[in-house]
Amino acid sequence: MSSKDVYKRSVYREPAPVLDQDNPFQAMVERFDVAARILELDPGFYEYLVTPAKIHIVGIPVVMDTGKIKMFEGYRVIHSEILGPSKGGIRYAPDVNVEEVKALAAWMTWKCAVVDVPFGGAKGGIVCNPREMSPGELERLTRRYTANMMDVFGPERDIPAPDMNTNEQIMAWILDTYSMHARRTETAVVTGKPILLGGSAGRREATGRGVMTVTLAAMERLGLRASESTVAVQGFGNVGSVAADLLAKQGCRILAVSDVSGGYYNANGLDIQAMIAYSASHGNSLEGYPDAEPISNDELLSLDVDVLAPCAKEDQVTLKNADKIHAKIISEGANGPTTPKADAVLADRGVLVIPDILANAGGVTVSYFEWVQDRQGYFWTEDRVNRRLDRMMHAAFDSVFETAQKHDTTLRIGAYVRGISKVAGALKIRGIYA
Ligand code: NAD
Repeated sequence: MSSKDVYKRSVYREPAPVLDQDNPFQAMVERFDVAARILELDPGFYEYLVTPAKIHIVGIPVVMDTGKIKMFEGYRVIHSEILGPSKGGIRYAPDVNVEEVKALAAWMTWKCAVVDVPFGGAKGGIVCNPREMSPGELERLTRRYTANMMDVFGPERDIPAPDMNTNEQIMAWILDTYSMHARRTETAVVTGKPILLGGSAGRREATGRGVMTVTLAAMERLGLRASESTVAVQGFGNVGSVAADLLAKQGCRILAVSDVSGGYYNANGLDIQAMIAYSASHGNSLEGYPDAEPISNDELLSLDVDVLAPCAKEDQVTLKNADKIHAKIISEGANGPTTPKADAVLADRGVLVIPDILANAGGVTVSYFEWVQDRQGYFWTEDRVNRRLDRMMHAAFDSVFETAQKHDTTLRIGAYVRGISKVAGALKIRGIYA
C-alpha cells in the first residue's frame, strides 16, 4: 500500500454529513481537507495542523454593579505557534463558544501565513452581553480574564487584539493588568491599543484598508474600474465602515450598508462620511439615518452590485441566498461569512470570492507592525504603515491568485494552500519534539 493510500484511509475520512450553517470549526476543516489533498499533505502533519495546540477555559467572577457576583466563561484557543508567538483577537458576545473560537484561531494561523507575518494563530472569547454591562463591569471582567491568562499571554507567547465588541479601551485594560502582574509596562503584550499607549498609527483602519486594497486588486483582474463600480457593505463597525469609506474615496458608489438596526440603500450612492458621523453620535447605530431607504439584510446581500463586502459576522452567505447573489466579487471583511456549501454555488456561478483569511488580513498585518514598533520603541508614521500594509496585501493577493490559478481552484482554497504549505514547511524543518 502506498503512503498515499494510507493517507486516504486515515485522513480522507468520509466527510461528516455537513449542514449548511455548520459548526465553524467543521467549516474550516472542510476547506483544510481540500487544500490538504492538493498539497498531498503527510497524514501526521494533517492531524497536527488541524488540531489546536492549547485550549484554555476559565471561569471569571465579576462583582456586578448590584454588588452580586456573576460568573462568566472565557476562552483562549492557541491553534498554532509554529511560525512564532500566537496572535488573535478577543470577542465578547453572548453566543461565543469553544467551537467558534477554535475555528477563528485556526483561521488566524492560515491568515498570518498568507500575509507572511511571523505569528501563529489564536483567538479568545468571553460569553457575555457587553451591551447590557456597565463600563465598570466590563473593566472588571477584562482585568480578571487577563489575570487568569497571565501564563498564556505575553509579547513572546500570545498577543491578543480587538475583535467583535472589544476595542482600544479593552486592550488598554489588558495591557495595564498584564503590566501590573509583570511589574513592568509591557506594551507589546497586546495590539489594537490606543496610540498613547504604544498603539500604531493606522491600526484602527487597517482591516478596512486591507479590504479596500484586495477589492481593488480583484476589480483590476476583472477589468472593473472603481469609478464605475457599485458596492454593498454588510456591517458598519470597525471593518465595514472603514472599508465603505475607503472604497468610496477610490470612486466606488456605495449603494447600501447595514448594521444590526437594518440596511440602508441609496441608488445615487450613500454619503459614508455622514453615516460614520451619524452612527458615532447615535450609540454606534445607523437607526433612523435619514438619507437612505430602509432595506432588509437579505435584500442587501442580493443587491445588483459589483462588489459585496460582508463585514459583520459568520454564516451570512449560505445555501439559502448564494444563488441570489448578484455581485461579481465578494470581499470577506468578516471571518467566515460564507458557508462551504455556499462557496460551491458561488464558484459555479463564477463569483470571485476574496476569502476572509486574505481579505481581512490587514488587521493582523498592522498588529504585527504595532508589535514590532513596541519592541523597538520606535514608531512609524501613518503613511509608512499604510504603504507597507498596501505592499504586503498586494503581494498576498497576487500570490493567492497565482496559487489558485496553478491548482485551478478558488481563491479561498488557493489561500489555504498557501497558508498551510508555509506552516507545514516550517513544521517539517522544526521537526516533532519528543
Ligand atoms: P464591530 O463590532 O466593530 O462591528 C460589527 C458590525 O456588524 C456592527 O456594525 C454591527 O451592528 C453589525 N452587525 C452585527 N450583526 C449584523 C447583522 N446580522 N446584519 C448586519 N449587520 C450586523 O466588529 P468588527 O471589528 O468590524 O468585526 C466585524 C467582522 O470582521 C468580524 O467577523 C471580525 O471577526 C472580523 N474581523 C475584524 C477585524 C478587526 O480588526 N476589527 C480583523 C479581522 C476580522
